[in-house]
Amino acid sequence: MQTLLIDADKTGFPNLALMQLSTHLKNHGHTVNFGSMAGKPDLIFISCVFTQNKENAYSVGAYYPDTKKIYGGTGVGKNNGVSYFSHEYPDYSLYPESDYSLGFMTRGCFRKCPWCVVPEKEGMIRKHSPLSEFDNPDYKKIMLLDNNLLACPDHINLIDELIDSKKKVCITQANDIRLITEENAVALQSMRSYDTRFKNKRYYFSWDTPAIEKQVIKGIETLMDAGIRANQLQFYVLINYDTDYFEDKHRLETLLSLGCRPYVMLYNNRKGTYHHHMKRWVERRYCEIMSWDEYDWGDSQKWIQMMNGIEPNNGIKLDNFTRVKQRKRTN
Ligand code: SF4
Repeated sequence: MQTLLIDADKTGFPNLALMQLSTHLKNHGHTVNFGSMAGKPDLIFISCVFTQNKENAYSVGAYYPDTKKIYGGTGVGKNNGVSYFSHEYPDYSLYPESDYSLGFMTRGCFRKCPWCVVPEKEGMIRKHSPLSEFDNPDYKKIMLLDNNLLACPDHINLIDELIDSKKKVCITQANDIRLITEENAVALQSMRSYDTRFKNKRYYFSWDTPAIEKQVIKGIETLMDAGIRANQLQFYVLINYDTDYFEDKHRLETLLSLGCRPYVMLYNNRKGTYHHHMKRWVERRYCEIMSWDEYDWGDSQKWIQMMNGIEPNNGIKLDNFTRVKQRKRTN
């Protein structure tokens, strides 16, 4: 059977589910084509991870009106049966340009953050794959997609397994700063933890809600006591979900004052008013050369004036927001 696999997100980042599905299909006699193929496929699988790519997924599918199509991924619906083949060895040949092993050592999470699909999609935290199940011996790097590795009761052994591999490791989905202990901080320090390009030493965490500030600061101190440098800590900071301007500003400025690296995550890619300006201030590293207050008097204010009369998504009325800024300026 000629089977076509399509990655509707086209992020350039390997799609693990498609890689595992490819192995599964090949083991069951399918001839697997990836992205496109000459001639008409007998069956098509279309993966869509991000909701914003949902339309793209269905329009790609519309090119093949007479072929059976199976859609999967969070972008098109959560219950997609991934667990059926989630222990297959990934078919690394789909992404020949990539040079790292990809997988989950754990799945799920015990928390229930309202903005997050993980608890509903994956369920409770548990061990998932030993490293051997997805590690490619030809690669010297490992990318983990675990959503809360430190929540797994056996996480020290899992980190030890990664240390013993002697490979560079990137836990890209972030760790839970509230679960940092002296013991796991030392273990993490021994791990060759890198950024997503495997270029710089990096540990990813998240600070999604202002309520956990004390735990964030305590976690940073514990990691630094274990020998990890502040500038090796990158924090995903969720904005435009239910926080306001001042809470967002405070979290970013606190991380910068501690020497850590913030990274702004716009909830569902919602632009809001000041939100994408804040993201740009951080992403383009203006935050390293000027404060937010200095930066914000540039484009952000101009943009807000252009939007005169429209209430921002975060609930602060524009006139209030502008008044606060004006007061600050005249002081
Ligand atoms: S801790 Fe992270 S993975 Fe767990 S529910 Fe919250 S956001 Fe999702």
